[in-house]
Amino acid sequence: MQKCIKCNSQFGWRKIFKSYKWTYGPLECDNCGTIHKITIFGRFTVTFLTMLPFLIAQFFLIPSDNIFLTICGAALIAMIGFLLSPYVVRYKERL
Ligand SMILES: [Zn+2]
Repeated sequence: MQKCIKCNSQFGWRKIFKSYKWTYGPLECDNCGTIHKITIFGRFTVTFLTMLPFLIAQFFLIPSDNIFLTICGAALIAMIGFLLSPYVVRYKERL
């Protein structure tokens, strides 16, 4: 999980997740006020975690003729990937 670059204090899951809105808005440290910005790689990670499970579910895991079930299953897995992404996404200091 991302820590503050300056004071090393840990960001919470909720705080990182909240920063996703407004297309990855700045993440501010509660302790020292340093503003962090998501890295390109971080954005890629979020997209990857959300889209990859969706594709896997669609093509391999749910061999169902029921389109509705397939989409729901894939969406559920994608949601899990999205919810886990704050643990792996990386930020850098905004200059
Ligand atoms: Zn800090």
